[in-house]
Amino acid sequence: MSRGTTQQSSAPYNRRMVLDLVRQRGSMSRKDLVEKVALSPQTVANITNELEAIGLLVARRQKADKLRGQPPIAFELNPNAGGSIGISLEPGRASAAQVNLVGEVLRRESMEVDTHDRAAVLAAMIELVRAVRTRSLGDGRLWGVGVALPGPLIATDISFVGPTALEGWTDLSVLDDLREHTRLPVFYSVDSVAGALGETLFGVAKSLENFFYLHLGLGLGGALVDGRSAYRGANGNATEIGHVPVQPGGTPCYCGNTGCLERYLSLHSLAEALGASDAQMQDPAYLAALIEKPNKRMQAWCEQAAARLRDAVCMIENMLDPHSIVIGGSAPKALVERLVELAQPLRRSVRGGVAQPGSRIVLSERQEDSSILGAAVLPIYDMLAPRPEVLQQDRRPEAEVADLLGQRTKDRAGRL
Ligand SMILES: [Zn+2]
Repeated sequence: MSRGTTQQSSAPYNRRMVLDLVRQRGSMSRKDLVEKVALSPQTVANITNELEAIGLLVARRQKADKLRGQPPIAFELNPNAGGSIGISLEPGRASAAQVNLVGEVLRRESMEVDTHDRAAVLAAMIELVRAVRTRSLGDGRLWGVGVALPGPLIATDISFVGPTALEGWTDLSVLDDLREHTRLPVFYSVDSVAGALGETLFGVAKSLENFFYLHLGLGLGGALVDGRSAYRGANGNATEIGHVPVQPGGTPCYCGNTGCLERYLSLHSLAEALGASDAQMQDPAYLAALIEKPNKRMQAWCEQAAARLRDAVCMIENMLDPHSIVIGGSAPKALVERLVELAQPLRRSVRGGVAQPGSRIVLSERQEDSSILGAAVLPIYDMLAPRPEVLQQDRRPEAEVADLLGQRTKDRAGRL
């Protein structure tokens, strides 16, 4: 049972807890809420009134039960009470979508862009924000822009190097410029963490207390989510699984080492095996045809990539004992399905014999949208899926969504 820090109805902690419960369960009456949150009926009534007044909750009378008389009122999250714009940056391409509070994509757009050119990237992001911004959400209802980028994002030996990263970048000041131009709050995160939070809020990880997320796109990234928070490590660069060496003396990697996992298990490595370009890997029709009728090179790549995946699953499970490994990213679902199929039977590990059949690997159901969706959750994540550390943040009384829910206003692009 959850317990509020105070009985005061205006505490953001209690409001978020109520909103979170309603969101997760889809529909709850005041009576259900009082039982769950251990607040007084009066406090719960105050909170639902406040959330209804700003449009976040809507009240619906439940279906009549002839024997019991007047049916109770149930509260639901109003999907279009807020929303955000997500931008996914991959080398050579920027994609964006506007989504509402239940993760529905209202409008999407993407364009090719030379990601080496900072000014071109800024112009593309501004254009995408303009293009996907819909009238169905009023200005005040757009909670911000989230940007997901391939990591690592903090300057290290292996940051911003190679064709699967934003090569040549030295910092993320372009995101501050985006904030200035759009006058919207901007949040960012490494793409694997964004994808994982997207699955937590709207996807297959909704009910998972912990999981490892494998982000399979042009490169390969990872994220470990426990209790709704992604593990960050000392500098926020944790779980860069793509650069874990798996083959002594193997294929040289742009990070300076050899035999990194990403050199065998990524769309960039597939492009190399096929003699194709990275741009072709971002063309769903091209990949769909190859998956449908694999040629010899495709078949050979799939077999070796599946063997690496099989080892990676064993390593992740033995290291972290996650409930599931969720696979998302821009790789087509049909391709991931093929790899998972070829990786069977999975190796023996601490999850073997414990996990339910089929739960060790779970595929994102939003595969083609998973990167953009991950970006889009960044501005709304803390309000809809509050983590303990966020719940303790400021407690201003103003009756605006962000203030009411205790969201900090930031004067720079904020990292999740
Ligand atoms: Zn590497």
